Amino acid sequence: MVKVREVFEKIMKNLKFYNTLSRELEEFKAIEPPLVGLYTCGPTVYNYAHLGNLRTYLFEDWLKRVLLYADYEVKHIMNVTDVGHLVGDGDLGEDKMELGSAREGRSAWEIADYYWQAFRDDLKMLNIAEPTQWAKVTDNIPEQIELIKLLEKKGFTYLTPDGLYFDTVKFPDYNKLSHLHLEDLIEGARVEKNIAKKNPTDFALWKFSPAGKKRQMEWKSPWGLGFPGWHIECSAIALKYLGQNQDIHCGGIDHINVHHTNEIAQSEAATGKKFFNYWLHGAFLNIVGGKKMAKSAGNFLTLKNSLIEKKINPLAFRLAAASVHYRKPMEYSEASLRQAENTWRNLLRQVAALPETPGKINSAWQESFFQAIADDLNLPQALAVTQDLLKSNLTEADKLATVLDFDRVLGFSLAKAKELADREISLEELAPEIKELVLAREQARTNHDFTTSDRLREELRQRGYAVEDLKGGVKIITLD
Ligand code: AMP
Ligand code: ZN
Repeated sequence: MVKVREVFEKIMKNLKFYNTLSRELEEFKAIEPPLVGLYTCGPTVYNYAHLGNLRTYLFEDWLKRVLLYADYEVKHIMNVTDVGHLVGDGDLGEDKMELGSAREGRSAWEIADYYWQAFRDDLKMLNIAEPTQWAKVTDNIPEQIELIKLLEKKGFTYLTPDGLYFDTVKFPDYNKLSHLHLEDLIEGARVEKNIAKKNPTDFALWKFSPAGKKRQMEWKSPWGLGFPGWHIECSAIALKYLGQNQDIHCGGIDHINVHHTNEIAQSEAATGKKFFNYWLHGAFLNIVGGKKMAKSAGNFLTLKNSLIEKKINPLAFRLAAASVHYRKPMEYSEASLRQAENTWRNLLRQVAALPETPGKINSAWQESFFQAIADDLNLPQALAVTQDLLKSNLTEADKLATVLDFDRVLGFSLAKAKELADREISLEELAPEIKELVLAREQARTNHDFTTSDRLREELRQRGYAVEDLKGGVKIITLD
């Protein structure tokens, strides 16, 4: 039998990730193993996170858990964008924080704190571990000013009436992440008309407060009163907290062509060193019809309005996201969430049926699981291995030990299976008004009146009961 430790060492060497820089699946090599420096672009805290954002944070959480599982120590930094992200992601338009403040009649500082806390609540409900270090942009203004001063000293900047800009033509490798021809990048950047820019791809490092208007968030700088451009925050924060250990940087694919491209340009121009070795990007969560879910598009679903209020456990979303590889688009539908919740509850039931005391982790099963997650985080395959394990003829106690070990990566709260697994309840045990709803729904189904039966199912859910239709009748489950 292979020793567990040997398996870890083998896999530690065998982790492969798709690197956007090379557009290839690459073997992962940490700069200073066992330490890994991980940077994930954090939320812009002017509104709740939507399920698309959360899909990206889930992918990053699995990445971190896989690294930890392979025995790395992860130093994870996440910024909190509480100033400087302008509408349209460019250098013009209003600051999203000031917009949030106007919308809600609260100060930009209050808005930032409120939505950051709401984001942390979301993470908790999804079993996403917090970073080693949170870094608010407003807590790191001097670091950003210092970095801009260095860029100015090295001749990469120029002044315009609205701010200090980075001259992208002076950084020859500007397209190394996007792999786009300059003409394509220019085309993308042209959407925003800023006539003072020398080149369409240039971007603001420091923006001046508008004349005649007092901003809530503004700071003095060598160039004038104002606030940092959106991209400089991540460079300054990553350089401050990770120093030389710049192993992996992540975000959603929307960040490749502009935000991450600009982060690389300004960081490498300033330090003369490679910024990050691995760039990993998660695909979008789309709404039906392939449209990206976006805060600005107003089509966004939150954990609260799409799961909690519908009494769907947030971990159903975690399971739904695990069922699609992170580099493939995922389509949102309420039906798929409900399906995922059933799968998650089935998993809980299977684990809850195992004996109380775990036996030994089985290394052969562990290796199959490792192979899946080491292959560019193949979570769908890891889920399949988990299902196969539960169906296998391994002893029940060893099954429990092994599945709990897998859950260090999966994060489905399987250790609490007994407590979380739904409880089936008989018609007789139900309160009379609930029983009536169940019977009315049965009647509607018999009459093929599915509109009514769906409405009643929803009502039952709101009251804390799920109904599953079986061949010979219904199964009623208490959700709370
Ligand atoms: P933001 O709060 O807008 O700065 O975005 C936070 C994270 O969510 C970033 O990594 C984005 O790339 C990512 N993101 C934004 N929209 C989506 C989406 N529809 N699906 C997946 N990830 C997204
Ligand atoms: Zn960033």
